[in-house]
Amino acid sequence: MEWEPEALKELEKVPQHVRSMAKIGIETSVEKKGKTTVTIEDVREAAEQFRALMKKDDKTTRIAVVRCDIVSEVCPGVACFKAFNKRKVHFSRYGKDTEIIGFFTCGGCPGRRVFRLVDSLLKHDVDVIHLSSCMLMEKSYSRCPHLEDIKQMILKKGVKVVEGTHH
Ligand code: SF4
Repeated sequence: MEWEPEALKELEKVPQHVRSMAKIGIETSVEKKGKTTVTIEDVREAAEQFRALMKKDDKTTRIAVVRCDIVSEVCPGVACFKAFNKRKVHFSRYGKDTEIIGFFTCGGCPGRRVFRLVDSLLKHDVDVIHLSSCMLMEKSYSRCPHLEDIKQMILKKGVKVVEGTHH
């Protein structure tokens, strides 16, 4: 099987410990197409198929928490993390294959930076965003008056929302 120089260069992007396996896989696929030369397109196609396969097999649930900017001045977020680490209260639905990938404040009323941070989290495949319990409480702190807008904005971006974290 012949390899075009650009194809070989592209192959070098594959981690060394799996490169020879990848090379065999690509050559087999090119052979099936009735071709005798591997092109850069063949390598990219194989890489794309591999990425899609990995994504399909990845059952990790990625979650993030948005919390009140005002409350963050007095709360380091320990209760949220404790509840997540022990999978309690609003985190009890998750198994071990769940990662917390973001913990951020809304940026101040009316939740001015939430949309930008959700965009950023989408690049990391976030599945669910929790609205922290401090945004929902009625007693210790005032309930967030912008809660519904923040929630709808996240939902519109195609991310699930759960109201609450540790109580
Ligand atoms: S928008 Fe809601 S969560 Fe954000 S600072 Fe204002 S009251 Fe707190």
